[in-house]
Amino acid sequence: MIDNYTSFVKKTEILCNGLFLDEKLIDHYKSQGIEISYGRKGGAGPLGGRYFLFENQTIVNAALWNDPSKSNFIIRENEDGYFLIYDSKNKSEHCRLKLVQNPTFYSPEYVTSDGIPMKKIALVHGIDCLSSTIYQKCVYHACGEGCKFCAIELSLENDATIEEKNSEQMSEVIATAKKEGRCNHMTLTSGTDETIDKGAKRYIELLNGIKKNFPKLPIHVQIEPLEDISFLNELKDAGANTIGIHLEVLDQNIRNNITPGKSRITYEAYEKNWKHALDVFGKNQVSSYLLTGFGESLEDFIKDVEKVISLGVIPFITPVRSIPGRENISTITSDKMVEIYIKTAKLMKEYGVNPLKSKAGCVRCGGCSAINDAYKTI
Ligand code: SF4
Repeated sequence: MIDNYTSFVKKTEILCNGLFLDEKLIDHYKSQGIEISYGRKGGAGPLGGRYFLFENQTIVNAALWNDPSKSNFIIRENEDGYFLIYDSKNKSEHCRLKLVQNPTFYSPEYVTSDGIPMKKIALVHGIDCLSSTIYQKCVYHACGEGCKFCAIELSLENDATIEEKNSEQMSEVIATAKKEGRCNHMTLTSGTDETIDKGAKRYIELLNGIKKNFPKLPIHVQIEPLEDISFLNELKDAGANTIGIHLEVLDQNIRNNITPGKSRITYEAYEKNWKHALDVFGKNQVSSYLLTGFGESLEDFIKDVEKVISLGVIPFITPVRSIPGRENISTITSDKMVEIYIKTAKLMKEYGVNPLKSKAGCVRCGGCSAINDAYKTI
């Protein structure tokens, strides 16, 4: 059985490089009853991924490439339910991974009572994290200042979703996903609204509706810093259990380039919101997505990460993943990424921040980042 440290390192390598899936083998796997394809083409969170489990149950959201030049990790034969992953650079076996099956409600016959395919309302991330982008438009994209790693509006263009979801639709999907054991917590995300509440009111309405039907379901919401921080209290009162206020890029110069619209929100605004969110949501329930791989130095990155951790915020660090068809923006190597995760895990222990205590959402799911895995191994 693979040990926790080895799976942490191998997961990090896969987060950085993805896996090569030979298109020609898709039908072959299908004949063995394994449905594997290249994953989703839009939405929030890293794209194009499928979820896999290592033998010790470590989860990874892996990008699947149809081009062998993108990754030296090749999906090979499936034996006893596990794919053999071959490392073509080192000419040896890399690891064994079990594909997490898609839930049955993705089939077209599963529709909400108003006729929308359930798959367009919410998707299962990882094992049991039902996730939905509740509002698929973003003010920054609308004015050409969208974040370069984000594909929120691609899913609308691809007809993979609908613009806005309501609590009746969501409750029906939750009930269906629960029946097959695929909804023990939720991640709700959204594009940024032009309004002063930055979309908080939309979340509040939805949360009220969901929590009426599923009062015990832990829910994570993601929002930009607010000028009126009392909305954070309202989100908690409506039933949000954890919150992500995502800075995404730590270095201000890189922010200006990668997240042109959002970079006008000051770091001070983030600090103010994080601090208040910690008062409202409690210890270990506030996180921030931090992407790396834009060419920043490791020392600077860790210095800035320490600032975030010292406030009590969980840094959900992930290597940036390029959007298929757009320019490749990542420069990070997996060795550097492993170092970042270990240093971050040590800092979290030092400041008493524990990602394993998060009640819902990305930090609990852990598919896109190896911070939980690093934390477990040190
Ligand atoms: S960490 Fe899990 S819930 Fe969050 S975006 Fe990744 S797969 Fe989705």
